[in-house]
Amino acid sequence: MRRLFDDWESVLARAADSHFVLLLDFDGTLAPIAPTPDDAALPRETRSLLERLAENPRCTLAVVSGRGIEDLRGKVGIPGIVYVGNHGLEADGTEALPSYEPPRLARELLTWMHRELAARLAEVPGVFFEDKNASLAVHYRLVAPRDAARVETDVRRAVEALDVGGFLEIAAGKMVLDLRPRLDWNKGTAVAHLVRAEERLRAGAVFPIYVGDDATDEDAFRALEGRGIAVLVGEPRKSHATHYVKDTEEVARMLRALAERCGEPLNR
Ligand SMILES: [Mg+2]
Repeated sequence: MRRLFDDWESVLARAADSHFVLLLDFDGTLAPIAPTPDDAALPRETRSLLERLAENPRCTLAVVSGRGIEDLRGKVGIPGIVYVGNHGLEADGTEALPSYEPPRLARELLTWMHRELAARLAEVPGVFFEDKNASLAVHYRLVAPRDAARVETDVRRAVEALDVGGFLEIAAGKMVLDLRPRLDWNKGTAVAHLVRAEERLRAGAVFPIYVGDDATDEDAFRALEGRGIAVLVGEPRKSHATHYVKDTEEVARMLRALAERCGEPLNR
């Protein structure tokens, strides 16, 4: 894994005059991680760079998040961007992706899990739940460090005990566990579909760039293997990413460099 800015010129050389497909996670990538999901916000410069890139005909932009789609659209709110929510289950602004409508069984199971977990974790201060329609998030960023392991164990045990049909799976992120239907559909599948649709539209001349900071982004990094680049936000670690940047400020720096590149005349 290479530091992105040490390899930038060769990345641009590989991209040549390809159309950029920019696939960006939200929390911890575009917006700094905040104590609660409600507190997270796009930095002003990042917002104006995204607006600039969204208008550029040489770029397709997608924000790919674990957030529910309405929540995500509310946080970003820029026209001309593809929104992918619930780790790929929901999409807006593209015909390449369907939106999953959970069947009644899934909905009832999630509501039941919500009630059970709320009771089991009632005495752990700082745990809160977020019903995202297609999934249920258990957030524990605000929990005392000594209780964090207990939350993880309790959630895993509850799912094992109550979900006898094995209908749900747990997607683990930074201090959040997402209970979702087991569908073999994740950020990676969504990204693969989006990139393929762009390739069809542009006769293959497409250079995808995925940027993300969390465990659930690994599916998307893997989906891009052999094409474009996959950029991890954070310290380099064992990952399917090809490159890394340090933090959300360096993501903004990358967006600035791309906006400059896409503003240059084509070499053709
Ligand atoms: Mg993230």
